[in-house]
Amino acid sequence: MVKQQSDSTVNGKIRCDACPVMCYIADGKAGACDRYANVGGDLIRVDPLTIIENTVNEGGKVVSFLPGTEGEDWDGDLVQAKRSFVTAVGAGTTYPDYKPAPFIVSQTERGIDMVTVVTEGIFSYCGAKVKIDTDRYLGPEASPVRVDGEQVGHVTTGEYGSQMLSLGGVHHLTGGSKKEGRVTCDALLRLCNGEAVEMQIEGGAEVTVKAGAAPIINGVEEQRMRVGCGSATIGMFAKQWAPHVDEVVVVDDHITGVLSEHQAGRLLDVPSTGIRIKGRRSTPGRYFQVAEPGTGWGGTNISDPLSILGDFDPKAAYAGLRMLMVSTTGEQYGYYILNAELRPVLQTDLPEPIRFSVDQIAENCEPAVASVLFMGGAGGSLRAGVTRNPVQLTRSVKEALTYVSCGGAPAYVWPGGGITVMADVTQMPANAFGYVPTPALVAPIEFTMRLDDYRALGGHMEAVVPIEEALKVAERRVAPRDDTRWPTAGENFKWRA
Ligand code: SF4
Repeated sequence: MVKQQSDSTVNGKIRCDACPVMCYIADGKAGACDRYANVGGDLIRVDPLTIIENTVNEGGKVVSFLPGTEGEDWDGDLVQAKRSFVTAVGAGTTYPDYKPAPFIVSQTERGIDMVTVVTEGIFSYCGAKVKIDTDRYLGPEASPVRVDGEQVGHVTTGEYGSQMLSLGGVHHLTGGSKKEGRVTCDALLRLCNGEAVEMQIEGGAEVTVKAGAAPIINGVEEQRMRVGCGSATIGMFAKQWAPHVDEVVVVDDHITGVLSEHQAGRLLDVPSTGIRIKGRRSTPGRYFQVAEPGTGWGGTNISDPLSILGDFDPKAAYAGLRMLMVSTTGEQYGYYILNAELRPVLQTDLPEPIRFSVDQIAENCEPAVASVLFMGGAGGSLRAGVTRNPVQLTRSVKEALTYVSCGGAPAYVWPGGGITVMADVTQMPANAFGYVPTPALVAPIEFTMRLDDYRALGGHMEAVVPIEEALKVAERRVAPRDDTRWPTAGENFKWRA
């Protein structure tokens, strides 16, 4: 665990100055955020400093997968600079920020001197963008999202096959009541640390979100992310359907598709069937607003698909006409044959080719997952812990000379001013996030660049230490998540000529 400096002790209590709360911590006790403790008179960062080791274990043998060294035996030396990345998880925070960041470590990578500045940033301006793979209606756009009765965010514009939530942000963290800020901070902390959080959407559903897991909507675990909208589904499967049915309707809250009218049906010479759809016709074979949004067929509120049909036109329809109605995930389907009155009659047996195509819709769906991206702005004073001239860091990031990561996870840096980043929380080590009661989220952030560039941007050169110093105090070593790569010389950098 990392020992922190403290400038003040009163009656045996150490003052922690890692955030504006400035706790006085008695021996054996922790501060208000549980991140710092007084251990025998030393101020200690409780969570271990975390290192990511660039090794994989194949058949019990640890091998390197650094580019160019694949398959080479690893000599077992953990303290090899080029194979380790010091994350900010457990590194601690400096406050106020003019002090150098807790760790500024140098290492040589392929003959090039690199430096990584790590700090656990205190983010009052931060939140989470949540993507929930489902067609089901979660609630009206801009509807408040609540946790324990407090608004922590809102429903934002939906995306293709996913509903989106925007959570946190400075207004909920600091602009509302004390309870709203506390609940928002706690919800963000749990979400970012991979825990499940139950939310209520005003005028909509109860949702449980856990990063990387299937979302639970109104108590039911979502299974599938739709194959596409109703129109796209017609396009994808029209060839399979045309020889075996006369009509197909793919029910979708966004765009309901109708085979006989759709361009795909026209090209396959599917004749008109006299079908009438209740909804707003957009273009041939594509209908909007066939029903209200909901948790039924294709994200609509219907449980009976026939409710979106008008009477068949007797000029084109005929008894014996075969029709498939299916949702965009293939979870709901019905096979009908028109009777003498031109009314669809549900058939109990699905012809084998039709069953096959319905199964293929399901097969082409992906597992429904909730994704959580941490989003925060490091454009403020945090930069001063990196350099005496903060705007130089922003410029260096924008010029791609400095690579930004969060707990080793690649961070997407937004264009425009400041250093506003987004990172996938599932790509970070477990429990990478903390909080302080101001309230604000504490998130790991690392800046990696060439040592020459660090010097040029006015970095705290006097605070640079070899990586071995950090490795000595690191107590937690983790493997990279998936194919996440932290910056190495020659990758991720724009090299100057
Ligand atoms: S809340 Fe945590 S970081 Fe802030 S002063 Fe107290 S112990 Fe230190």
